[in-house]
Amino acid sequence: MNCPECKGHDCIHIEIRLTEEMVQFYSCRKCEAKWWENEGGPVALEQVLGLAGRR
Ligand SMILES: [Zn+2]
Repeated sequence: MNCPECKGHDCIHIEIRLTEEMVQFYSCRKCEAKWWENEGGPVALEQVLGLAGRR
């Protein structure tokens, strides 16, 4: 996984389980960019918060 901002390779990858789906969280150590993805592709932060808040 390369950073979409700086194309760096030094990214942190954390898998987070929300209520009903897994979301991948990525963070770049170099430029501190952060982004989210699920199986379907990139996820907006608002979407992640929406998923997390759903009960
Ligand atoms: Zn970066």
